[in-house]
Amino acid sequence: MTLSTPLSSVPGIGSSYAEKLKYLGLNTINDLIHYYPFRYEDFSNVTTIENVKLDEPVTLIGDIWSITSIHTKTHKVMTRAIFNDGTSSIELIWFNQPWLSKSINAGNKIQIAGKISKSGNKLTCLSPKWEKVLDESPANNSLHSGRIVPIYSESLGITSKWLRQKIGDSIKQVSPLIVDPIPESVRPGLLPLPEALELIHFPNTPEDIEKAKQRLSFDELFFIQIAVLKKRAEWQQKKTTYSLKINQKKIDQFIKDLPFQLTDAQKKVTSEISSDLSKPFPMNRLVQGEVGSGKTVVATIAIYISYLNNLRSILMAPTEILAFQHYNTAQKLLEPLGVKVGLYTGSKKFTKTDKDFRPDLLIGTHALLSTKLATDQVGLVIIDEQQRFGVEQRSFLRSRPDTPHFLSMTATPIPRTVALTLYGDLDLSIINELPKGRIKNKTFYVPNHKRLDAYEFIAKKMGEGDQVYLVTPLIEESETLTTVRAATVEFEKLKTTIFPKFRLGLLHGRLKPKDKTDIIDQFKAGRIDCLVSTSVVEVGVDVPNATIMVIEGAERFGLAQLHQLRGRVGRGSKESFCFLFSELVEPSLVSRLKKLETTYDGLALAELDLKIRGSGDLFGIRQSGRWELKIASFTDLELIEKTRAAAQRILHENPKLDKYPSIAAELSHLVSQVMPD
Ligand code: ADP
Ligand code: MG
Repeated sequence: MTLSTPLSSVPGIGSSYAEKLKYLGLNTINDLIHYYPFRYEDFSNVTTIENVKLDEPVTLIGDIWSITSIHTKTHKVMTRAIFNDGTSSIELIWFNQPWLSKSINAGNKIQIAGKISKSGNKLTCLSPKWEKVLDESPANNSLHSGRIVPIYSESLGITSKWLRQKIGDSIKQVSPLIVDPIPESVRPGLLPLPEALELIHFPNTPEDIEKAKQRLSFDELFFIQIAVLKKRAEWQQKKTTYSLKINQKKIDQFIKDLPFQLTDAQKKVTSEISSDLSKPFPMNRLVQGEVGSGKTVVATIAIYISYLNNLRSILMAPTEILAFQHYNTAQKLLEPLGVKVGLYTGSKKFTKTDKDFRPDLLIGTHALLSTKLATDQVGLVIIDEQQRFGVEQRSFLRSRPDTPHFLSMTATPIPRTVALTLYGDLDLSIINELPKGRIKNKTFYVPNHKRLDAYEFIAKKMGEGDQVYLVTPLIEESETLTTVRAATVEFEKLKTTIFPKFRLGLLHGRLKPKDKTDIIDQFKAGRIDCLVSTSVVEVGVDVPNATIMVIEGAERFGLAQLHQLRGRVGRGSKESFCFLFSELVEPSLVSRLKKLETTYDGLALAELDLKIRGSGDLFGIRQSGRWELKIASFTDLELIEKTRAAAQRILHENPKLDKYPSIAAELSHLVSQVMPD
């Protein structure tokens, strides 16, 4: 058995389990030993029934005196055994494991781990972990009891116990074969990899877990750092043919002619972009600014600079509606200056360009990716709402033969620690200020007993002609049938019992594109008072008359995401409101939601999400199409900086990494998965 042995050919795993493991992303022995426990139970207290402390995790060694399975009235299988360890007897009970009474027989010596409880005079242990003891001494090499026991997340019918057994068997065999890819000089004070892997699964003490986690977290972050830094270096060595001249006079004039004054943040980002454009290597910059912060105009200036250098630009947006909005803006701001603008989307309705037309600026949706239009003399590629595109889609546009300057934009706030790692290959610009004169909407957390008041208020506003968005709970990650069903139920309830006098519309991701556009158009035209929609549907349109945002099941969302949702209202001059409905009353949840009543800074809210909920939930990471951390945490700024420094040192000393073949090998594996180019 080696690290690369496929799981399907490991004795005792077999093809049906191998198939299931594949779904968990586990193909080889190496994958299996990197499947870390998500928690531990400490059964290292090996004791006797006589001395047992009730309701605490313990391990006991003794004999099975009897064991039987019966069917209960509720159609469960209940297995009961009498277990005696020489000091006393207890009863063991398991549910729905019918095979148990065949695996364990009267007379067997077994070691059990669990909590002992007392009812009346009887001591029982419910669902203990167990393993057979082959010789007299308490098993030193026991996996499931008598020690700190690793617990793995279970799915597809693969149990934690099964995984523990297989991982335990594998790690014993392959541990001597594990080569530590990172030399000690790069990771002073951390455990060697084979040891860290053994201890993450089978620690002897709580300190072992800590030490193993430190080493494995280091690796995880280190490889990301080195991947992004290497990417960045490679990108900067790609000489662009287009180092742009900045005609400052014309740019200043353009800015002066805008119908508004740029905010300080917009000015700063504009100058960061111009400076990039004039460099001898292509720009690779991400502009982050919340909804309404005015990213488009900044992009427009970059497009103008490209035009003044006789180069063409491409702007890709995630939806037709957004592309169309950009097209309108560009027509207004750029066409008077001579810039020819084209629009290319999937549907004829929007397409405003043809084969012979050579626009200076081509705006479109992902349909751009499959067209041959405008492929030469492109100096600048811009992707709006970049988080809505997949990795391949983004890299397709930017890896053109002429290596154009590349600008991406996002409304998703990215905390500093995350940006340092996940987006370490990009330069980051932040527009952290909204144009003056925007009225912040008033946000209220609405507990159950105030719900009717809120409905009444909303009805009153709709009566006065205001429009409302109502977002239904996020049931599952994506627009599944369950989510749609929940939205439909909510819609019916609102229509029949809460707002019977008003015109309601339902929008979700499973509607046909045409039906979606219809509903949105009706809402825009004011023929729908309240648009009930799932959160997955981005309404990405300006409806200045929409003044109320209601979010059901608000506790299911991250703060940054709620902030983004409420950004959809308050586009006009009227006072606007956001109501956060939640049926839960847990104080920590309530105080989390109440943060939105006082904080209007998206980035600060994202930082809070990261602190409160950890990175797993952080809005935008999963959508980023980049890494998800398995063991390290984006909250660990110290480790992030340490790994970054280590990665920088190595790349500085040996940019090609030929002195570190094992780091290079590990890296190429990783990069091919998440950063194809
Ligand atoms: P986003 O960052 O969400 O893409 P947009 O670029 O669409 O925001 O800008 C939102 C609105 O704000 C647009 O109508 C735009 O014309 C306007 N806008 C942009 N910058 C300013 C500014 N400095 N002052 C006033 N209005 C602005
Ligand atoms: Mg925008």
